[in-house]
Amino acid sequence: MARFVFITGGVVSSLGKGLASAALGALLQARGFTVRLRKLDPYLNVDPGTMSPFEHGEVFVTDDGAETDLDLGHYERFTGVAARRTDSISSGRVYQNVLEKERRGDYLGKTIQVIPHVTNEIKDFIRIGEDEVDFMLCEIGGTVGDIEGLPFFEAIRQFAQEKPRGQSVFMHLTLLPWIAASGELKTKPTQHSVKELRSIGIAPDILVCRSERPIPQKEREKLALFCSVRPDSVIPAYDLKSIYEAPLAYHREGLDQAVLDAFGISPAPRPNLARWDDVYDRIYSAEGEVRVAIVGKYTQLEDAYKSIAEALTHGGMANRVKVRAEWIDAEIFEREDPSPHLEGFHAILVPGGFGERGTEGKINAARFARERKIPYLGICLGMQMAVVEAARNLANMPKAGSQEFDHEAGHGASARFEPVIFHLKQWIKDNETVARSVLDDKGGTMRLGSYDATLKEGSKVAEVYDRTAIHERHRHRYEVDIKYRKQLEEAGLCFSGLSPDGRLPEIVEVTDHPWFIGVQFHPELKSKPFDPHPLFKDFVRAAKEVSRLV
Ligand code: GLN
Repeated sequence: MARFVFITGGVVSSLGKGLASAALGALLQARGFTVRLRKLDPYLNVDPGTMSPFEHGEVFVTDDGAETDLDLGHYERFTGVAARRTDSISSGRVYQNVLEKERRGDYLGKTIQVIPHVTNEIKDFIRIGEDEVDFMLCEIGGTVGDIEGLPFFEAIRQFAQEKPRGQSVFMHLTLLPWIAASGELKTKPTQHSVKELRSIGIAPDILVCRSERPIPQKEREKLALFCSVRPDSVIPAYDLKSIYEAPLAYHREGLDQAVLDAFGISPAPRPNLARWDDVYDRIYSAEGEVRVAIVGKYTQLEDAYKSIAEALTHGGMANRVKVRAEWIDAEIFEREDPSPHLEGFHAILVPGGFGERGTEGKINAARFARERKIPYLGICLGMQMAVVEAARNLANMPKAGSQEFDHEAGHGASARFEPVIFHLKQWIKDNETVARSVLDDKGGTMRLGSYDATLKEGSKVAEVYDRTAIHERHRHRYEVDIKYRKQLEEAGLCFSGLSPDGRLPEIVEVTDHPWFIGVQFHPELKSKPFDPHPLFKDFVRAAKEVSRLV
């Protein structure tokens, strides 16, 4: 049965709780243990699928089609363990489950209450798959003291109590602010945070303290004394140049040792950190820099394209170059010629997105990349817009567009567009037909999760992947209409990846171009620092080649 580590946060948010959890996962793996990481989020949305990327950052999609918090992306990137639908839960989902049970009469007429019904639901969730791994790491979103987080804290308190002694460990992440005027690191907010935690019945075993300055031994001892943890369980977490240093840095500070000690695992297996040493070496041995323009919509918040930024970094590590990604608002190219903005970049990436705003700009960016023969990677909407561009400018279909922006498209003369991208309402998943209507709810109605694709022998992508059968993660409603295939192929666009039934275009590439690939799926979600995604690896290689030429 698994041992459980519960990770909570205090003082302020955004301290890197997800990263600390992911790094701990990687370190336990390095000691030979199997791990699974889980996120429990107190917000009321049923899942983050309907939240704006501006508010909540990227939606991370799992193989089994769940729309989850971006922290699950960190978990995967650090441990390589594919997250599942059951690794992410929100208050909204918990209440939805409880209320569904209530409506079904499962509670036999009882009054439904936060304790025990909501807390039981949370505990049942934590237990899923507990026999499969050595360690289950559960991160609680938000900070201690948040009203909406209380049922989660109560649930983990009960959970640890119900398990045999020594099977659960609590790790609490806080901040030691630096007061410049007095030249001191302050421990008081951490003391308060731990007090808050203890007042709801949770005594932390390990304190992880974020600090921008070295934490003197004296302060560590003070924290240990006031917070009632062992001095060697006060783990400093300093700012790092790269997040991928985190496993090595936390190991140096003794985090994994402290966790194993807290569980009484002795002697602790020796860690094998070769994977992370290699990652470190690749980050710091980069020679030169490539500039990649990311032409998108949610450019104000980098977290909106978190996995893309990370996958580009991984591609850089594979090629031992630094990737400088610059975010450009696609709307600019609706008013201005893209040339002066895009000249000087070694590659252009157009990411996924929803809605019409900025799409004509993305089309112009794709055109620039195609005509100037600059490496282009179009992801999801970025692929769809590249197809529209090719239809308009290569295949002589000036009205080509997407039904996403004009629901009349394809239905009569008043339509603004000819729908080369159409609303997919029926498709096959695991040999079964899935059907959707325009009237369906917004949440969870897309083609989501992992689907197979077959690559064309001899195509660029078959060479990049070095195989012809792939599976990749999807999140979209619209699709390139296969009926335009012949027309577009004659014009120079190759449909080099298709769904196994041959009906859904998964990948297109421009034949007469050194590197122009559009993919309907999200390759960035599967890239790891120690296993960069082939598309990102080769995209950066192509960019590096351009950088050497210019
Ligand atoms: N809006 C497009 C669709 O739904 C693309 C989605 C995406 O880029 N993830 O098909």
